Amino acid sequence: MSAQTIVLASNNAGKLKEFQQLLADKNMAVIAQRELGISDAEETGLSFVENAILKARHACEHSGMAAIADDSGLEVDALNGAPGIYSARFSGEGASDASNNDLLLQKLAGKTEAERSARFHCVLVYMRQALDPTPIICHASWEGLILQAPRGEQGFGYDPLFWLPERQQSSAELDRALKNRISHRGQAMAKLLQALS
Ligand code: IMP
Repeated sequence: MSAQTIVLASNNAGKLKEFQQLLADKNMAVIAQRELGISDAEETGLSFVENAILKARHACEHSGMAAIADDSGLEVDALNGAPGIYSARFSGEGASDASNNDLLLQKLAGKTEAERSARFHCVLVYMRQALDPTPIICHASWEGLILQAPRGEQGFGYDPLFWLPERQQSSAELDRALKNRISHRGQAMAKLLQALS
């Protein structure tokens, strides 16, 4: 039986590899949208799920194929949920991870440990076609605390500031394979695989 090809509405090489490995078992091949000349969708939604749907629909529309999209970010309770859907551009358009982390530390200055609760969210959407009325939507979150200073060298984004009390490590100190399994993204992927079975 020939493999079904699915478009990934992201050009992130790490994500592409992970999806390719996970979906190979389901006889599904994954291709990044850039390989088909598809541009990034405009993320005009006001929630993770809206943005993930916009991205998946855009990839379906321009490829005529089924598509997977994800949207993720950090929710900090003391900041009323910010940076949320604006996590990548918290400190401005084209922001770096370092400037986003600096701004987060600045906004939480003086907050006690109890006031530093936060979680990462990941929403994954699978759409069979652009007008799919019932996309598969999988959501997972990952609880932690925001540190007073960065720790660890691995990962990306807010990983050096995301403390996991039960492991006594920051997300940037975790073994990569472990992070991929237990993180918001890992958990959402597990749910999607289950849903596709
Ligand atoms: P995207 O959904 O891949 O565009 O991620 C949005 C932003 O959320 C990233 O640019 C990071 O700032 C943040 N983020 C999402 N997932 C993670 C993670 O696993 N570790 C650290 N930061 C993350």
